[in-house]
Amino acid sequence: MTSYGTLDLDDMRYFPCSCKVCARHTPYELRGMSPKERERLLAWHNLGECFTEIKRIKEAINEGRLWELLELRAKSHPSLLQALKHLGEYPDYLEAGAPISKEKGMFYFGSSGLARPQITRYRNRLKRWMPPTQADILLLLPTPSSKPFHRSKEYATLASLLVKKGLEASKIHACFYTAPFGLIPMELDETYPLSQFEATLPLDRETVDDVARQAEDYVKGRGYSIVVLQLSPIIGAKVEAILRRIIRPEKLIISTSDEKEQDAEVKKLTSAINIAFKTLGNNSKSD
Ligand SMILES: [Zn+2]
Repeated sequence: MTSYGTLDLDDMRYFPCSCKVCARHTPYELRGMSPKERERLLAWHNLGECFTEIKRIKEAINEGRLWELLELRAKSHPSLLQALKHLGEYPDYLEAGAPISKEKGMFYFGSSGLARPQITRYRNRLKRWMPPTQADILLLLPTPSSKPFHRSKEYATLASLLVKKGLEASKIHACFYTAPFGLIPMELDETYPLSQFEATLPLDRETVDDVARQAEDYVKGRGYSIVVLQLSPIIGAKVEAILRRIIRPEKLIISTSDEKEQDAEVKKLTSAINIAFKTLGNNSKSD
């Protein structure tokens, strides 16, 4: 017995374990023993393995990493991963039993982690969250290079350029589209777990689709007049495709990200925001 499944003694050359039995014997030696002695030694190893796994689970709970352990174990056999996927069909049930806050950052390995309680809880909270009332322009930005996002160099460069241009900052509401949470308004990006997570790149297709759906839900439920989307190569394109279906063309302004230089990219984005203000001005005149 091992933490990732059972092995057949007849096929083994090494014991992947350091318990007393495995350290002192080889599989070859055990195969040569009497059945009774072999059974006694294997039982001793198996008992130790069970206790180790129980302690590992307890420590994972203590560290707030039970979900990570669950994913790790689930990937040791296809039927276990299948069970985890079924479990993912009940995100609200999983969320109800999870503690409110944890100290450790969250690791996201792929779409099997989308059902984890922290993500469900954040999304439920976001549904009830109201953006600043004076903000007419929703600015959708890709994941910056550091956390918290609103203190990243990308956002700082953009914010200072907007001030220089004299654009009214209170009318713009910046949200970051990012995996696995979906959409993170800048006001929330320092709260747990949004400031403490690591996601595996490149993202799988299910995760990309999920982020785009979250962006769609957020935009649909809010009353922004204009949406400015700064594209990113993978998620951005998906978000754009979804937003084009639900927003009138004149209300969606896209800023492409094909520039090599960050400064050029920010300038392009600032021009897009400028256009948004002009569109906003025209709209209010015609209202
Ligand atoms: Zn052992």
